[in-house]
Amino acid sequence: MPVKTVTVRVPAKVNLQLSVGPREADGYHNLVTVFQAISIFDEVTVSLREPNSGISISISGDHTHGVPADSNNLAVKATELIASEYDLDVDVHIDIKKSIPVAGGMAGGSADAAATIVAIDYLFSLGMNREEMSEIAAQLGSDVPFMLSGGTAIGTGHGEQLTPALSRGVYHWVLALSTVGLTTPAVYDECDRLRAGSEIAEPQTHEVLMQALLAADPKTVGASMSNDLQAAACSLRPALRLVLDVGQEYGALGALVSGSGPTVAFLVADEEAGLDLAVALTASGVVGSVARAYGPVGGAKVLA
Ligand code: ATP
Repeated sequence: MPVKTVTVRVPAKVNLQLSVGPREADGYHNLVTVFQAISIFDEVTVSLREPNSGISISISGDHTHGVPADSNNLAVKATELIASEYDLDVDVHIDIKKSIPVAGGMAGGSADAAATIVAIDYLFSLGMNREEMSEIAAQLGSDVPFMLSGGTAIGTGHGEQLTPALSRGVYHWVLALSTVGLTTPAVYDECDRLRAGSEIAEPQTHEVLMQALLAADPKTVGASMSNDLQAAACSLRPALRLVLDVGQEYGALGALVSGSGPTVAFLVADEEAGLDLAVALTASGVVGSVARAYGPVGGAKVLA
């Protein structure tokens, strides 16, 4: 019997390092980033429909607000791109069960695009290898290739050129979520505005961070995390500074805005420290809601 439906689970990400070079002539910035995939997951279920019925989509789960339920959804775009590249008639329904916060700097849309690539490959028995999937992924967005592989990886170019990072150990995270997102282009524009007139160096990998990941040393990882977009995210959303302060006061090993924000990610020593910090953040009243997670976890994967 041919398979009629498949569910793919895909994680969120945080950036342990996000170094942003000067704005290039094409409007983009060269980056050096260190991604880690963490245990907050969306589930994308793709089911075959009658011939000629096209692509439909529904969104369910904890975070549906602001997610387009039409052809603007990255999952639909991923499906259309594969259909055109592989010359397929694709009649499917896509359901996304969202647990990854929307517009939070955790690559939720990119994650769903990666999950959809894996689902369509499976459902249509395309037999795509990792390279072919990555090629499709990079056309959909700079974070999409990482969401296929997961783990911990260094991203260069616009973040889409990946090298696996040598990382040991488990890292525990507390995430302070905002009810209202920030759009990535607005944060880059603010970053350019704040840095106007300064000499911006080409971004480099932080060696101390890489050594600490290799040594499974969360204390040094926490101390050496950095995000060049943090000042811009805080400039657009000044309340984020209060959130960062509360986390540091309650013993986080490191605190930073994740990607373009506004999610703030705190690295903590262990699960117990995570629980304590989650309680403190909730009690502080400066945070919309709090989630806990660990990483690294694997990328987009078919659920058995
Ligand atoms: P990144 O970290 O990759 O910059 P983000 O986590 O800040 O992204 P997303 O959650 O990916 O942001 O959402 C950004 C915008 O993308 C949303 O506001 C929404 O309009 C659009 N979008 C398209 N497809 C999706 C999807 N499947 N899930 C969430 N947002 C989507």
